[in-house]
Amino acid sequence: MKKPQTGNTASLYKTKAYSAASETSPLAATSISRRETTDNDVQIEILFCGICHSDLHTVRNEWSSIMPTVYPCVPGHEIVGRVTKIGSAVKKFKPGDLAGVGCLVDSDHTCPNCRDGLEQLCPNQTLTFNSLDKHLGGVTYGGYSESIVVDEHFVLHVPANLNLAGVAPLLCAGITTYSPMRRWGDIKGKKVGVVGLGGLGHMGVKFARAFGAQVVVFTTSENKRQDALRLGANEVVVSSKPGEMQKHAGSFDFILDTIAAVHDINAYINMLGRDGNITLVGAPEKPLSVSAFALLLGRRSLSGSLIGGIAETQEMLDFCGKHDITADVEVIPIQKVNEAYERLVKSDVKYRFSIDMASLKSEQTA
Ligand code: NAP
Ligand code: ZN
Repeated sequence: MKKPQTGNTASLYKTKAYSAASETSPLAATSISRRETTDNDVQIEILFCGICHSDLHTVRNEWSSIMPTVYPCVPGHEIVGRVTKIGSAVKKFKPGDLAGVGCLVDSDHTCPNCRDGLEQLCPNQTLTFNSLDKHLGGVTYGGYSESIVVDEHFVLHVPANLNLAGVAPLLCAGITTYSPMRRWGDIKGKKVGVVGLGGLGHMGVKFARAFGAQVVVFTTSENKRQDALRLGANEVVVSSKPGEMQKHAGSFDFILDTIAAVHDINAYINMLGRDGNITLVGAPEKPLSVSAFALLLGRRSLSGSLIGGIAETQEMLDFCGKHDITADVEVIPIQKVNEAYERLVKSDVKYRFSIDMASLKSEQTA
């Protein structure tokens, strides 16, 4: 077990990034320090980085009561790129390899969760951004950046046959939807609901369909109906239409709720059949109100799920390689990131923004 490094003893290099200076500031070009590779590190030139709604929650300090944002904040945890340098003890990667990094860059490797391959539940985990940086002090900086340096344990192999802009979102939206469906059991032939057709939701639809489920999408956006069917849904319900909702009451085995804002979860609990489960992956900034009776009647359960472990993330990427699954992306230059955030708030993205990081090269930073 290697000892975590503390303090500022690591040697550093500068790299360009986009950061927010406060919860009301737009993201803007800057220059940040990264550590040079230590023995177990992989340095990656970032090619694409997805925009997760969690980036926006964090940049705007919407989760202040759970994890307050430290500024400047460089978000981004859907990272795909190419290895440029490796430390002397690195075994899994060599320069030139494709590589992915998701929401985690470190954990303690010794707690029961880490021992079970559930690094995402480690009490001493380090998130890719806005988490204590054990090497440099301060907080970690994420993927809206030219390059990143990460312990190889947290770096994933990326299947070579997939479009890289569409791979980036797999590192968070992909694993966050894959993991709870896998854990729930064999969903082949089961009736599965996906609530919210955004970045997570559209990946949920693709996975549920690939696992052989009968998939129903719940959306607030009438204009996403055709897309939902194209993405693999068997049926689409526009949640503002009581007749469409009523038809499905009490009929689902499993529902994945990806909504990013406060909403009436009881309307979806009531969609479950006996022993049905609804799993929350969406993380609204305020608590949801849950009706006990909606759970009691039908012996239903409500769970939560957080991304996935490293081995499971690799399993998901390999599954995507085999089944040719990527996110549907709108590729944007980094200069459009603030506009993209405004559209994300309005649920107006089809279905994930993926930033082409080559666009960062033209920025002049100090
Ligand atoms: P997103 O792309 O913005 O998608 C969220 C979708 O929720 C929207 O497209 C919209 O779908 C629906 N929605 C938004 N506001 C709504 C409202 N007021 N009422 C009803 N539906 C609403 O966001 P995302 O990146 O998929 O992330 C979704 C949530 O998951 C965020 O809270 C994010 O922080 C969280 N998250 C959690 C994990 C985890 O590990 N648990 C990982 C990543 C992200 P329609 O237009 O179809 O209605
Ligand atoms: Zn995310």
